[in-house]
Amino acid sequence: MASYYNTTYMEGDALIANISDIYKRISHAAMRAGRRPEDVRLIAVTKTVPAAAIKEAVDAGLRDFGESRVKEAEEKAAELAAYNSEVRWHMVGHLQRNKARAAVGLFDLIHSIDSVRLLREVGKEAERTGKLQRVLVEVKLSPEEAKHGVSEEGLMGLLREAEETKGVEVEGLMAIPPFFDDPRLARPYFKMLRMLRDEAERAGFGLPELSMGMTGDFEIAVEEGATIVRIGTAIFGPRRGE
Ligand SMILES: *Cc1c(COP(=O)(O)O)cnc(C)c1O
Repeated sequence: MASYYNTTYMEGDALIANISDIYKRISHAAMRAGRRPEDVRLIAVTKTVPAAAIKEAVDAGLRDFGESRVKEAEEKAAELAAYNSEVRWHMVGHLQRNKARAAVGLFDLIHSIDSVRLLREVGKEAERTGKLQRVLVEVKLSPEEAKHGVSEEGLMGLLREAEETKGVEVEGLMAIPPFFDDPRLARPYFKMLRMLRDEAERAGFGLPELSMGMTGDFEIAVEEGATIVRIGTAIFGPRRGE
């Protein structure tokens, strides 16, 4: 087994307790913002988490899993083949163009489209296999810190390009704000993503999904309109080597 897997992870009652705690926190955050808790989807981020722990999470009721590397996701999907009709895989990490074919073959939703070239490659692979690939556009909200994502200025151009690209359907936006010890400091970034989404919708694009919020800041993200939160550590425990 490849070395990126943890050797210890949450299991059994501890895993179930973590999951119910997160649902509770999501619900409370949604209610504080006058939103319906069921409008927020939890994606369990399973990078470094072995297939056995993912199986337990499926047994506990989770269905959406996020990975940041195509190869690691492929290995786990193969190990969990018996569950694959129930489970949806999400690509939340940076996607290289030369992995587009494998990604289209595997992922229900790719959160990290950040260039016209990647968009076209994904569209080409999807068309070739007769799939309509659902994607999100990743936006770089802090140019000095974020490595990936389209700039705010480039967003509209990418969305227009996507309308002309067969095989892909853009369903919303994704962002990773800088890390803060105080999660309240991430709020302006979440507001910014929602504002960009609203602006794009006024320009005629349908972008219902906002993928934002991780272990440290998901409640703030939900208050600011997240429809998808991507949570790893709070479910499975800390990752090794980070
Ligand atoms: C790892 C990762 C997450 C989950 O991070 P946690 O802090 O462990 O919840 C969410 N989104 C992306 C893009 C990630 O790479």
